[in-house]
Amino acid sequence: MSGAAVGLAVAQILPPEWGGVTTATETFIYAGLTAGAALLPDLDSPSATVSRSFGPITQVISRFTENTSQAFVNITRGRRDKHCNNGHRTLTHTIWSALATGAGATALIGAYGKPAVIGLLFFFLGLGIRGLLPEWSKSVDWLWVTAASAALAIGVWNYAPESSFGIVLGSAITVGCVTHMLGDMATKAGIPAFAPLLPLKGRRWWNLKLPKFLSIRADGPADRFLLFAFSVAVIVQIGLVSSGNMRTIMVNLLHLPV
Ligand SMILES: [Zn+2]
Repeated sequence: MSGAAVGLAVAQILPPEWGGVTTATETFIYAGLTAGAALLPDLDSPSATVSRSFGPITQVISRFTENTSQAFVNITRGRRDKHCNNGHRTLTHTIWSALATGAGATALIGAYGKPAVIGLLFFFLGLGIRGLLPEWSKSVDWLWVTAASAALAIGVWNYAPESSFGIVLGSAITVGCVTHMLGDMATKAGIPAFAPLLPLKGRRWWNLKLPKFLSIRADGPADRFLLFAFSVAVIVQIGLVSSGNMRTIMVNLLHLPV
C-alpha cells in the first residue's frame, strides 16, 4: 500500500523528457507497478509474498536469491561483520540493488522491446495485485492470480503508448524497492542500505535504522496504523489524480518550476 501511495505521488513529478506518465490511467499503471515492486526486495525470503507469487518458479528464484545474497555478504564482509547464515535483508535491501533492478528493467526493454515490457508488466502488476488485494490473492489458487496478472498486463500493453515504457517502467521498480527499504528501515532491525561500499568501524554490512523511539515492530500496532494511513492516502490520491489536481499539489509541495 505504501508503494502505491508513493507511486501515485512520484508519477506526477517524473521528468517530462522520460516520455511517460501524463494521464490519470498512466498514473494508476505506474502506481500498480510501484506497489508490486515494493514487494520485490523480500525475494530473499522464501516465505514472503513475492516468493510465493508464481508458485514453484518464484520459490526456486527465491532460494537462489537467498543463497547468493548470503554468499555475497560472506565474500564482501568487513573484519568485524559476523558470518552471515541467512541472506534475508542483505543484498536485495541495498540502495545499489534498487538502482540496479530499475536500470536492468530499462536495459531489458531497450534490448528486447515489446516482449520485455509485457513480461515486466505481467510480473510487477501481478505482484501489485497480491500486495493490494492480499485476502483475495490468498483465497484463490496462484494460477488464478497469474491469469489475472496476464490479462492485466495485456490490457495495459494495449492501452498505453509504447514510448511510455523504458526508463519510466524502470523508475517505477526502483521507487517501489526504495519504498520497501524505507519501511524495513523503520523496523527495529533496519537494513544495510549502503553495504558493502560504505564501511563503518570495520563493518561493511552495518544496518541503517531509525532512532530507537521512532522504530516500529513489524506487524505491531504502529505497522497496522501505517497500513491504515497509507490506505487512506491511496484513496485520497486516487480522487486527486482522477480530478487532475494531484500534480498541482506535488508541484506546490516541492516548490518545483511548473
Ligand atoms: Zn524486506
